[in-house]
Amino acid sequence: MKFRLLLALLVLPLGAQTTPFGTKVSDPASAPATTTAPAAAPVAAPAAGGVSDEFVDNSVQVSPFRPTLLPEAKSTRTFQLSKLNRLGSTESTKELQRLYSAFATQSIVDGSPAGSSKAVGYLTSVTYSILQDLGDNRYLAKAAWPASGPNEALAAGVDTMALLLLEKPAKAGDTGKITGMHVGTVAVLFPPDFAPLKGRRLTLRREAFLECATLEDSPAGLQRFVEAITAGAELSATTNETIPCKKCGGLGFTREAQKGQLLDKRVPCADCASTGKLIISVETKFVP
Ligand SMILES: [Zn+2]
Repeated sequence: MKFRLLLALLVLPLGAQTTPFGTKVSDPASAPATTTAPAAAPVAAPAAGGVSDEFVDNSVQVSPFRPTLLPEAKSTRTFQLSKLNRLGSTESTKELQRLYSAFATQSIVDGSPAGSSKAVGYLTSVTYSILQDLGDNRYLAKAAWPASGPNEALAAGVDTMALLLLEKPAKAGDTGKITGMHVGTVAVLFPPDFAPLKGRRLTLRREAFLECATLEDSPAGLQRFVEAITAGAELSATTNETIPCKKCGGLGFTREAQKGQLLDKRVPCADCASTGKLIISVETKFVP
């Protein structure tokens, strides 16, 4: 729906400036067969051949891929490996596995000493169908992805145009699925070569994703993770945790004294919607 609106906004000013190009005859695809106009054509510009010489700029400009600003975790805590499974400690094997699973989905494999580093944007699974090759492994694609990040900070995309930076060359029409790191939106100025935008030149601002590999969520991966922390790597995982609501003390309501009555009035707690619980984003830092 957004795309249609954008298209409508774009068509209006363009149509006003370039009325002769709006007809089907001037579609660049049909130009070679129908170009019969003599040399005088560029003045009146009725034929697509004259148009393309004078007006069509086929260069592509893509603004830098810029990392998303991730929200800060509301709270931090430490997970100490040396306390693992000690009596009275919260550091259990089960908890370590749970946090490692979160870490694995928040990290990308790269050439750093630990073998991976924290993803600078939300990671999500992107299904795509390529619309146009923009050069340098950058593609405009119809894409879909599930929401990602704490509280679905990155909203889901459904049949949405997006910019992809792929690891391997691809061509228009190719479909696939990647793990994509959301790197915010980028602006692309280009001449679309697909319907219904073909023949125009426009700027689109779209969500952009970099293809990347995530860590392996396996016992071997966990083993390497523990070894990296022991060797001094500073690693952390961010998770949503349920904590008791501070305002109502986990009761779901607060009490209000009623004049002349023995019983207090119970006021539903707005902070936690009477559940007594809050979900907050917590960053867990791992230490040896
Ligand atoms: Zn509450």
